[in-house]
Order: sequence, then C-alpha cells, then structure tokens
Amino acid sequence: MDRKVLGEVAEALANASSIVITTHIQPDGDALGSILAISRHLRQAGKKVCVTWGEEIRVPAHYQWMPGIDEIVEYGACIEADLLLALDCANEQRLGFMAEKLPLFKTVVNIDHHIDNSAFGTLNVLDFEASASCEIVYDLLMLMGSVIDEVSATLLYTGIVTDTGRFQYSNTTAKTHDTASHLIRLGVKPNEVFQSVYESMSFASLKWLGAILERAVFIDASSLVFSYVCAEDLKATGASLGDTESFIDYLRVAREAEVAAILKETPEGKLKVSLRSKGVVDVGSIAREGGGGGHRNAAGLTTDKSLDEAVAWISARISAQTPS
Ligand code: 5GP
Ligand code: MN
Repeated sequence: MDRKVLGEVAEALANASSIVITTHIQPDGDALGSILAISRHLRQAGKKVCVTWGEEIRVPAHYQWMPGIDEIVEYGACIEADLLLALDCANEQRLGFMAEKLPLFKTVVNIDHHIDNSAFGTLNVLDFEASASCEIVYDLLMLMGSVIDEVSATLLYTGIVTDTGRFQYSNTTAKTHDTASHLIRLGVKPNEVFQSVYESMSFASLKWLGAILERAVFIDASSLVFSYVCAEDLKATGASLGDTESFIDYLRVAREAEVAAILKETPEGKLKVSLRSKGVVDVGSIAREGGGGGHRNAAGLTTDKSLDEAVAWISARISAQTPS
C-alpha cells in the first residue's frame, strides 16, 4: 500500500468539515464494519457525517447488531458535503446510484482491497494485500492517531472475520492476525462477534439452509458444487438476499468442491451469482468476464441468464482453466 496516499487521505479527512461515507450495494460485514468504524471516528472528530449507499437501505439480519447501524440513512437524507469516502467498493457500478453522485464531490476518496479496483477516486488507497477494507481502515486510524475503543475495534474485527471466512481464506496473512490481535487487546470479544454474525440465524432460516443444501448439485467435470435460491424462497421465508450470505460457506465444505457457487434470483428477476474457489481456479476472472468482479477466490456477478445457462457458463469457464 502507498503510505503517502494514506497520509494524503488523513489530511483530506482532517480538512473536510462534512463527509458522505458510502460502500458497495448489498454490503457485507467488511463494507459495514469499515463505514461504521470510520464514521464513528469522523463524528468524534467533530465532522458532519452521513453514511449511506446507492440503493434502498436494507441491512441483513446478522449485521443489525452492529453499533451505529441505525445511523445509516437513505441518500436523500444526506447533507451536502465536500468529500465522498467510498470503502470496500471496487468500481462505480458497485456504488449503485451513488455513482451518479460522484461529480457532486470535490474529493472522492476510494479505500479498497479488491484487485480489480478501477481507481475511481481522486485519492485511491488500494491495498491488495489487505484481507479486508477494515484492515486498511485500521491502518488509517492508527496513522491519524485515533483512539480505537472497544466499539470501533469490534466493527473492524467484524469486517476482518467475515472477509477472511473466519481467518480461513487465503487472504488471511500474518498482518491480518496482528491486526486482529491488537483489536482483541483493545476489547473485542471474539466469541460475541462470532455468535452475533454466525449463530444468529432463526430456526426457520436454518431449515431453509437445509433445503438449499438438499438442492445442491455436484458437477464432476468442473468440480463445481452449486445450489440456488429462488424468489419464492424469499417470499416464503420473508428473508432478503443478504440473509443468505453465509450459505455458500456450507456448500464449499464438500471435499469434491474446487469451486462453490450459489445463484440467487433477485427481485428484478436476474441471478446474483456468488463464487468461491479453493485456490486452483481464479473465480475473479470468471466473474469479470461475466460483468462482475471480486477476488481470485471470492467473486460475484449478476446475470440475465437462466439458472441452467448460468451454471453451464460457469462450469465451462472453470473447465477452461483446469485442462485435464
Ligand atoms: P459475494 O459473493 O459475497 O457477494 O461477493 C464476493 C466478492 O465478490 C466480494 O468481494 C464482492 O465485492 C465481489 N463481488 C460480488 N458481486 C460482484 C459484482 O457484481 N461486481 C463486482 N465488481 N464485484 C462483485
Ligand atoms: Mn471487503
């Protein structure tokens, strides 16, 4: 990471009096942890802050406990600001309708760890070694001399835990653990974060997960395990797509799975595809080819294809990468 740019960002934040903070649509634990941690510090520093993202604000049930979550507002309720701070967002498209707002800001700060980040900011802090955007926010807060209390530490830790698959994915580094270790010393209770995020599923959702696993299919030719979530599932359970975020982690546990995929029907009738690789296959490049993006081992895209077409397309791309 470019420490010089990080210093420039610290200076830009210090000089701004009003700041809009945003992240990618359908935010995950890292997106939420990073925007809430930085907004807390900027508020404490006396800034006018608005936290939002570029679609209707809906927070998945397993993140509703996060401190500050109630301060997230629709963009319409936001203040006018000189500076837009985007966290964990790889490109304009992932900003949703916030992309249209970019020209309204004199300074756009883009802090992210996705390898395919389009550097859409006027200041770009891109650290592809960071396991999570929360790791970069930690570096920034340390550089700014901010006091990281138990609440902020818990927010940052949550982003790191979720983006590393509980310190299991290949993006987990010694620095990730060093950062997590410091955050624990600052007051994080790992068991509480774990229970809030991973043991908060309703019994009905657990049964639903069972049904999704029951539906799973293994394609031998591409070592792909996949399942799907349809619109009727969401209607029947009253759940939203975000509530299904962890389902893919159960699909990938199959030893046979080199790649796991879950395809979810969106309210617009498209398919939101999540891909996870165990390392041999670069699912990031497959996602990019399909108009999405992400990391080598965790990526996603949205497609107009039917379920069968999408699965065949993914399976063929995997096979092309793994000549037998
Ligand atoms: P998930 O499968 O959990 O939605 O996303 C996995 C990773 O892929 C995340 O890092 C996420 O930012 C990225 N990702 C998911 N969907 C998209 C997409 O449609 N476009 C881009 N650029 N990245 C995506
Ligand atoms: Mn992230």
